[in-house]
Amino acid sequence: MKPLDASNLGYMLDNGDQLFVVCNNGVCSHGAELIVPWLIDLLGRDHSSLAVDIIAGLKKHRKRLRCARCGNYDVGFQRIHAGYTGHRTED
Ligand SMILES: [Zn+2]
Repeated sequence: MKPLDASNLGYMLDNGDQLFVVCNNGVCSHGAELIVPWLIDLLGRDHSSLAVDIIAGLKKHRKRLRCARCGNYDVGFQRIHAGYTGHRTED
């Protein structure tokens, strides 16, 4: 039985999840949305959506994530689940 795979880019796109990159430079802490379709173009739908795998995948394409504000290369990921808003939404 195939487990529900909640950790690839295609799932994120279908689910409407968002991925944010956050600068780890404490005084900066700039956050920017990493566009999931852009990642899929580059890495494919079946690529893992884990931060380490995305960074490794981008590296293969000679791309590196860098803070647009302070130029720092030390960035973290924050994944926002589409279904989680902290409150109920009416349909
Ligand atoms: Zn920064």
